[in-house]
Amino acid sequence: MFSYRHAFHAGNHADVLKHTVLIAALQHLIEKDAALTVLDTHAGAGLYRLDGDCARTSGEATHGVARLFAPAVPALAPALQSYVELVRAFNHPGDTPRVYPGSPFIVQRLLRAHDRLKLFELHPTDLRSLAGNVAQLEAGRQLAVLHEDGFAGVRKFLPPPARRALVLCDPSYEIKSDYGKVLDFATDALARFATGAYAFWYPIIPRPEAHGLPRRLRTLANQAGRGWLHATLTVKSSRITASADGEVRRPGLPASGMFLINPPFTLKAALQAALPQMVQLLAQDRHAAHTLESSGG
Ligand code: SAM
Repeated sequence: MFSYRHAFHAGNHADVLKHTVLIAALQHLIEKDAALTVLDTHAGAGLYRLDGDCARTSGEATHGVARLFAPAVPALAPALQSYVELVRAFNHPGDTPRVYPGSPFIVQRLLRAHDRLKLFELHPTDLRSLAGNVAQLEAGRQLAVLHEDGFAGVRKFLPPPARRALVLCDPSYEIKSDYGKVLDFATDALARFATGAYAFWYPIIPRPEAHGLPRRLRTLANQAGRGWLHATLTVKSSRITASADGEVRRPGLPASGMFLINPPFTLKAALQAALPQMVQLLAQDRHAAHTLESSGG
């Protein structure tokens, strides 16, 4: 069984990017009355304690979401403001967040009663936490938790009845076969349901598969004649350094990206305003930067 636990990483810079994009995309998709199905292939535990052992051990949220709650934060771009407000809704107003909503709770908060949310989680511990957490919501038929491989399990829901869906594909990439699985999944999903909105998160790390994935997703989208958007956020250098006594220092995750196929047309403008602020607020050294590209140029 995998050892990745999102509880160590909840609220880090990668979550800020991923969840800001997720919220902005959803806000657009729920403007239409027709029912929306959201499929979360890798759901995690749903809710995380930022004052618990896992988050405190890693300290990642301190350099992520917590920075957006600092007293001197400037006026935020609308997409970042929506993200902050959504996180604040799970916490005492005015406090630095102690609870962090993962993608299941972020999505559920925004959906209407007639929308549907399917959550896939394989790890037994996170599955138990997720099931316990969502039980409090009393969401009834709106929400289902499935103990299945998300890459395979989602396919049976494509296309959904109202032919409107957002698929979030957010593996841990703990094993390098995940990169290939994402591409296979994207290929199959587009063949089943070409007009769905697909959002893929990936880490930017010194590994050929990680650099190849957005290139391959772009080729896939172009060949299928679908629009795409690619946003990346770097917060620090990826260089491995050594201390004076020769101890090797690995930087931790320096950057990540979101690749969307069939993105809402409003997303690019929302991120054009939000990404420079993410760089400003989340930078850990002078290498902090962002990129934003889309099929429209
Ligand atoms: N999407 C979550 C969020 O934004 O809050 C975080 C998900 S975390 C990066 C990845 C999760 O996928 C982990 O909880 C892991 O146990 C789970 N997982 C790993 N392989 C899986 C698979 N094949 N199918 C479903 N879940 C899987």
